Amino acid sequence: TKAFDIHQIRQDFPILQQQACGKPLVYLDSAASSQTPRVVIDRLHRYQSSEHSNVHRSVHSLGSNATLAFEGARKKVAEFINAGSEKEIVFTRGATDSVNLVMHSFGRRNLRSGDEIIVTGLEHHSNIVPWQMLCEEVGAVLRVVPIDARGELDLAAYHRLLGPRTRLVAMTQVSNSIGTVNPVQDMVASARKVGAVTLIDGAQAVPHMPVDVRALECDYYLFSGHKMCGPTGIGVLYTGPNVQERMGPYLGGGDMILRVTFEKTVYNVPPQKFEAGTPPIAGAIGLGAAVDYLQSVGMREIQQYEGELLDYALERIAEIDGVRVIGTARHKASVLSFMVDDIHPHDVGSLLNGYGVAIRAGHHCAQPVMDHFDVPATARASFALYNTLDDVDALIDGVRNVKRILSSQ
Ligand code: PMP
Repeated sequence: TKAFDIHQIRQDFPILQQQACGKPLVYLDSAASSQTPRVVIDRLHRYQSSEHSNVHRSVHSLGSNATLAFEGARKKVAEFINAGSEKEIVFTRGATDSVNLVMHSFGRRNLRSGDEIIVTGLEHHSNIVPWQMLCEEVGAVLRVVPIDARGELDLAAYHRLLGPRTRLVAMTQVSNSIGTVNPVQDMVASARKVGAVTLIDGAQAVPHMPVDVRALECDYYLFSGHKMCGPTGIGVLYTGPNVQERMGPYLGGGDMILRVTFEKTVYNVPPQKFEAGTPPIAGAIGLGAAVDYLQSVGMREIQQYEGELLDYALERIAEIDGVRVIGTARHKASVLSFMVDDIHPHDVGSLLNGYGVAIRAGHHCAQPVMDHFDVPATARASFALYNTLDDVDALIDGVRNVKRILSSQ
């Protein structure tokens, strides 16, 4: 195995050398957006300063080089998640766009009145709202896998929900609000037994663990570039071999066609069929560089290291009286959500900012999770490969100070 060199990794991220509020920046908001290593910044700079051109329809060398780099990034992404072919990789604008693509291209074409869609109680709004919109449109019914007091899915309830009308199961691999890791491989296997199509939201999984879409046997797997050391504006939708044929076009326009006349348009083959217009070329190339970077560190090594960070953080935060950890699943990744006494999480976050500690406070686009735990919001610290035990200590010291300043007890 490779040596995980945290000192080198920290050097790779220019932004981490900054100060915040006169203190060294302690960045604990990677679940919202991760920081960018220099190799990705340099790759974007190189593309923009010497390779930029439109792709796919060029006769000049700049254009064909840009196409090679863009399609090369698709291949890197395909290999990274072990897709069967780069043709199964659709570039989107992000995880949200990927879900909406499936809703429009697959959902509107294949679901009918009375069909059922299962989502879990742990979903980000982006994996709830598009399905509600679809249900409203076609008369399908949304079913929800409940979560228990720890923030784990009730799998017995899930199995009871599966049935002959289940057309689609949409589930997150890792909860962005409380960090629960779901047993998606087993859940996909059960869904397949009733003939349902499966979609996994991997936005919070891909940056933190090895992902193998063929081992998972899911039909769709999606994620965002900006949460995995890549740029914003680029996302991925893996479309497995069994669903591509059942999908209509998404946006109409250039590149997604083979032939257009006023009488009839013949659509292009996947993935171009789903990529109308000029794609996020820089974003894709930057994402390719991010994939290279993550692989050079090693996803297993990252998973192991972040697991140690999270364990340490859970242990240390338990030392503070009045702190309630929200989400105590047995299997968690990269996210620590908590409440400090009766202090509003926004106040916790704002005060922590004064100590240079950047966390998130809010509902994390997962209001049903907040409702389940009967809190309006949580304070959320989230980890990435570049965080350290010192970062955890800074968080803990910060929370103690917040308590001292604000607690009514
Ligand atoms: N799913 C999960 C689990 C997420 O954490 C996020 C981002 N917070 C999204 C989907 C949506 O990603 P994006 O905003 O990049 O489209």
